[in-house]
Amino acid sequence: MLRRTKIIATMGPATDTPEALDALIQAGVDVVRLNFSHGTHEEHARRAETVRNRARAHGRQIGVLADLQGPKIRIEKFVDGKVFLEEGARFVLDANLPPEAGTVERVGITYKQLPDDVRRGDTLLLDDGAVVLWVEEVNGPEIVCKVVVGGELSNHKGINRQGGGLSAKALTDKDRADIRAAAEMRADYLAVSFPRCADDIHEARELLRQAGGHGGIVAKIERAEAIANIEEIIEASDALMIARGDLGVEIGDAELPAVQKRIIQLARTMDRVVITATQMMQSMVENPIPTRAEVFDVANAVLDGTDAVMLSAETATGKYPAKAVAAMDRICRGAERARTVVAVERRQQMRFNRIDEAIAKAAMYTANHLGVKAIAALTESGATPLWMSRVSSGIPIYALTRHVETRRKVTLYRGVYPVSFDVTTTDHAEVNREAIDELVRRGAVRDGDLVIITKGDLAGVLGGTNAMKILRVGEHLRPQED
Ligand code: PGA
Ligand code: MN
Repeated sequence: MLRRTKIIATMGPATDTPEALDALIQAGVDVVRLNFSHGTHEEHARRAETVRNRARAHGRQIGVLADLQGPKIRIEKFVDGKVFLEEGARFVLDANLPPEAGTVERVGITYKQLPDDVRRGDTLLLDDGAVVLWVEEVNGPEIVCKVVVGGELSNHKGINRQGGGLSAKALTDKDRADIRAAAEMRADYLAVSFPRCADDIHEARELLRQAGGHGGIVAKIERAEAIANIEEIIEASDALMIARGDLGVEIGDAELPAVQKRIIQLARTMDRVVITATQMMQSMVENPIPTRAEVFDVANAVLDGTDAVMLSAETATGKYPAKAVAAMDRICRGAERARTVVAVERRQQMRFNRIDEAIAKAAMYTANHLGVKAIAALTESGATPLWMSRVSSGIPIYALTRHVETRRKVTLYRGVYPVSFDVTTTDHAEVNREAIDELVRRGAVRDGDLVIITKGDLAGVLGGTNAMKILRVGEHLRPQED
């Protein structure tokens, strides 16, 4: 059986050798993530190109996701690289302190407006919550804090406020330059960090299009405001990432499981793609096997209905990048065996807005109830297979398309597999036969199996899908009218 849930692996030093990358591809990675918080444009461009070359050599299709750093607020540096903060001590975040001058008493901050955004009584979490500060007072450029949870604090660690609400704009100048670089490397997806509302997503999309990029926009849900504006953000984006690292710091880790389930549900109902991210296999940074808790985390995300599960440090800097992908692969398959078809109650009241959407969803209804072996969606933009994959099913959906961008885009969709197929050069009367032959060649179907094909009367027209055909393999070889 094919794995339906997709695996995203973050690129980094641990994946840069040819052997490491080949092992990752062989283990089944579907999408690679370029983390723009680290590294240069040249480095990312080289990684994107190498991945595509190696994917081609393996006869695979791999998507590229460029992930912007965003306005992560950080402390500056310490004279000695790090300090140890004692519980109960006074510690000042000082917007006027030179960047390198941090001591055990005070440290600079990257976002100079921070003192305007916080007030007495706020709780600030540094280094994903490893150090906790309580704001006593704000004096001009100085945020005077008391250390609530002490510990080691080193250069450039992130700052979050419990409850969210820090007002840094979603797209920084660095992000704008990075968007141009992402467009140049033909990234299939652009992930926007810390968006607060739909406008942040619209702006990123606009900038990407201006730079000539075609990629889909991923909204990283990682601050409290994004949860408050979740529906408009989903509406504005192509995909969501449940960015559990920062989100957990802002809303509290206890809120995460319920939020994850709700966002996955909502994304699927609103016909969007959803990624579950961060610390899924964290212990595999150091160890060759996951903990039981990690096994359950990945499996539960699959059961929740996520499209993709993501690896961060596990592959970027970990000791066992390919083993981490292989473990995810194994766990996803196991979880997928546990359930195939689940009723989607909320769809009952829904209206279809378009003819191609109606065909896509009707095809899934038919496929699930007729016992179809595979679905072949002839597609230009990938919209038909996206709609199909929003309906729970164990039946593979093949996206047959002549566009390489579309083949790479669908690498993220649960249960959808890209196939190179040019309807515009295939004889009109032969399309069904050619499509089924392609599935037979892949071992997806054999004589006697039922297949659903969706397509448009006019080949190669965007949004043109208006027909569904049900064929039995073997019999499709007989002459038939279209
Ligand atoms: P990051 O985003 O890895 O870029 O911080 C993911 C998260 O916050 O979980
Ligand atoms: Mn984050």
